[in-house]
Amino acid sequence: MNDTARAGGDGAVTSESVLSAGAALATESARFAARGWMPGTAGNLSMTLARNPLRLAVTASGLDKGELSATDVVVVDGVGDWVAEAGLPFRQPSAEAGLHARIAAVTGAGAVIHVHALAAVRAGYQWPHGVELHDLEMLKGIGHSAHHERVTIPVVRNHQDMAILGDDFDRVYLPATESTAEVPALIVADHGIYAWGRDLRQARWHLELTEALLQIALATRA
Ligand SMILES: [Zn+2]
Repeated sequence: MNDTARAGGDGAVTSESVLSAGAALATESARFAARGWMPGTAGNLSMTLARNPLRLAVTASGLDKGELSATDVVVVDGVGDWVAEAGLPFRQPSAEAGLHARIAAVTGAGAVIHVHALAAVRAGYQWPHGVELHDLEMLKGIGHSAHHERVTIPVVRNHQDMAILGDDFDRVYLPATESTAEVPALIVADHGIYAWGRDLRQARWHLELTEALLQIALATRA
């Protein structure tokens, strides 16, 4: 089966598509590093390259997220393991690539962002069973009503095993229903936050808005 057929209509994984994703991820990464959300080498980003089978471009492990270039990217499979695609050499993917892959598989996201933002960590500590939000204008930005709707940002316990974290994500994920949009973010307690969207820009908006909503919740209910 050739790459085009395997991609299931998403297009083939080529070195050009990987480098294009890598350039976009590097630009986004620098933005979040500048905000202080990716201190040291923390955090990681991914884009979905193909769906059948699932292939993600994810940032490489152990690099300063303010200094990435287009080649600092790794192609991983549906469990976050490196796969040989488009003749690209081996690089170590982020240790958290497995959760990116699970989120992309379950939600259909085109991009996933993970950062160590302060309000997300504080909110996860304060409300370990989920952070309830309501009556805030910015809820519109994550697809929900600003009034008369209660939105819960799920929280899971931290774990080093991405398969366990992925199963916990499956358990708490709030997909869209007939009457409400999905909740496009997940807090990992004592760790950070994941947010996703149909593309990198929407994932960024979901991340920024969720972090801002969490800041408001902490400031007004602490
Ligand atoms: Zn992390």
